[in-house]
Amino acid sequence: MLVLRDLGKRYGGKSALRGLNLNVEPGQLCVILGPNGAGKSTLLRLICTLSRPSSGDAVVGGHSVLDDPVEVRKLAGVALHETLLYEDLTAAENLEFYSRLLGVSSEKSVIDEMLSRVELLHRRNDMVGTFSRGMKQRLSIARAMLGSPKVLLLDEPFSGLDIKARGQVSSMLTQAIADGATILLTAHDPELGYDLGHRLLVLVDGTLVYDREKSAVSKGEFVEEYRKLVGAIK
Ligand code: ADP
Repeated sequence: MLVLRDLGKRYGGKSALRGLNLNVEPGQLCVILGPNGAGKSTLLRLICTLSRPSSGDAVVGGHSVLDDPVEVRKLAGVALHETLLYEDLTAAENLEFYSRLLGVSSEKSVIDEMLSRVELLHRRNDMVGTFSRGMKQRLSIARAMLGSPKVLLLDEPFSGLDIKARGQVSSMLTQAIADGATILLTAHDPELGYDLGHRLLVLVDGTLVYDREKSAVSKGEFVEEYRKLVGAIK
C-alpha cells in the first residue's frame, strides 16, 4: 500500500532523510518514533506530496508522488502539526469545505457522522477559533478521514491531548483500520507507540534504525531498545 524507495530529502546542505526504504502492507498501523529533528514530519510531508523528495520516490497505492501526485492526494488523508482548519468557519463548515474540495459527499448526515466520531457534534456550529487545541486536533483528524482515505498520515496525533481525547483518537484509528485503512503515524513516546502500532519503526537523524513487528518484541524490550537508540545520538 505504501512503498518508499531510497527516499531522501535535503534542506540546503543538510540531509533530513537519508535514503529510506520501506514497504507497508495494507491494514497495517505503523508507528514512527524518534527524537525531535529525526525527520518524522519531513517523511509524512513527502508522502502526502506537500514536499518534494530530493532523491528516491514514495509510492502510495501504486501511485508515485513524483509522477502522480494528484492520485496520491486522493488516496492519502493527512493531519499535520498545522491543522489546516479555518478558524473563522464552524466545525461543520470546515468539514463541508474540505469534502467539496475532495469531491466527496458534504451531506449533513455524513458531516454529522464525522463530527460525532470525534465527539464534536455538540459544537458543530461553533467557530473553530473558539476550540481548545485538543478539539482542533480531533477535528483535524476527522478532516483527514473525510472520504475514507486508503492511507492515513498523522503527525503526532496524540500530542497535547488529555487521556479522554487520546482514547477517542485511538478508537478512531482502530475503526479506520477495521474499515481497511493503512496508517502511518509519528509519536515520540515509545510506550504509547508500542500500545498503538502493529509495526514499530525508529527514525534517528534521517535514518531508519529499527523496524520490527510488535509481536516480535515485548513492551519492556522495545522501550529499553528505543532509549538506547535515541540516547546514542545525544
Ligand atoms: P521531526 O518531525 O522528527 O521532529 P523534522 O522532519 O521536522 O523532524 O525535521 C528534520 C530535520 O529537517 C531537522 O533538522 C529540521 O531542522 C530540518 N527541517 C525540517 N523542515 C525544514 C525546512 N522547511 N527547512 C529547513 N530545514 C528543515
